[in-house]
Amino acid sequence: MDYMKCALLTVGADGRFSNVRHLAGFEMIKTSPPMDILWFRLPHLPEDPQGDEGRVRGGFANGRMLAVFDRFDYWQVGYVFPKGTYQQVRAGGLQALRESIVAIEPSFAKHVTSLNDWQQFSLLSVESGRCPRWYKPGLLLIGDASHVMSPVGGVGINYAVQDATVASNLLASPLKSGRVEVSDLRKVQSEREFPTRIIQAAQSAIQKRVIANVLSSQSGVRIPPLVRLAVRIPIIRDIPARLIAFGVHRAHVA
Ligand SMILES: Cc1cc2nc3c(=O)[nH]c(=O)nc-3n(C[C@H](O)[C@H](O)[C@H](O)COP(=O)(O)OP(=O)(O)OC[C@H]3O[C@@H](n4cnc5c(N)ncnc54)[C@H](O)[C@@H]3O)c2cc1C
Repeated sequence: MDYMKCALLTVGADGRFSNVRHLAGFEMIKTSPPMDILWFRLPHLPEDPQGDEGRVRGGFANGRMLAVFDRFDYWQVGYVFPKGTYQQVRAGGLQALRESIVAIEPSFAKHVTSLNDWQQFSLLSVESGRCPRWYKPGLLLIGDASHVMSPVGGVGINYAVQDATVASNLLASPLKSGRVEVSDLRKVQSEREFPTRIIQAAQSAIQKRVIANVLSSQSGVRIPPLVRLAVRIPIIRDIPARLIAFGVHRAHVA
């Protein structure tokens, strides 16, 4: 690849299927969880709750799971099912899918009538992984190109923006001076790798211990009493939200 001939520094920020990563020969260590997701929108109806209650929620039934986000003028919904069974979901037909959604979230009985075409759904093959190394002389990977985040917690955008922030903080001076050393690029990975690994470990634990159990069980899972108690204590309950919003290590534009 001749990126070194063209520019002082090439930043690969081209997402989860990064061509730059591929061309540079970086291998990603995959920690792919056993699930796929269908993303779709449902209309916000006048009778829907207007308060903060239920803006983000989830549920499960019959080995399927739903993640629901209130986007104010519509509902963003993720329908989670075991990896590799999309063809079964599709073969079951739209009516079966609508019924499955309502079985999990009965309040969507009216909303699902708006689902009448498979083109309304985006299939997300869930992947999670990270490159052991994010740089080479003249090249740096950031965001999903260097670490594909699982959708658990919806942290991908935040982590990509934080990578860009740290990269700009650390590389602005070397770029201005016309010389970017490998050690400068290493600093970017050093600062961002730890928070990424922490959050990926947390996502992986949730996927393996909670979501995988839900998807393999027809009767649902029992939430341990300690976890149920913990989510009622504000200081503990708020930890995941803070981790999602700010990460393990906050990044500020210098
Ligand atoms: C269906 C789905 C739902 C998601 N929901 C959420 C969510 O709710 N919250 C959240 O935080 N994260 C979510 N994510 C993850 C999030 O989108 C990513 O983690 C985040 O966008 C990564 O940012 P990025 O800049 O690294 O890559 P991207 O946002 O993927 O940006 C990469 C850019 O590079 C461009 N590109 C790629 N190849 C080339 C090329 N050869 N030439 C020129 N341009 C190119 C692409 O067009 C794209 O604009 C979701 C992901 C998916 C797939």
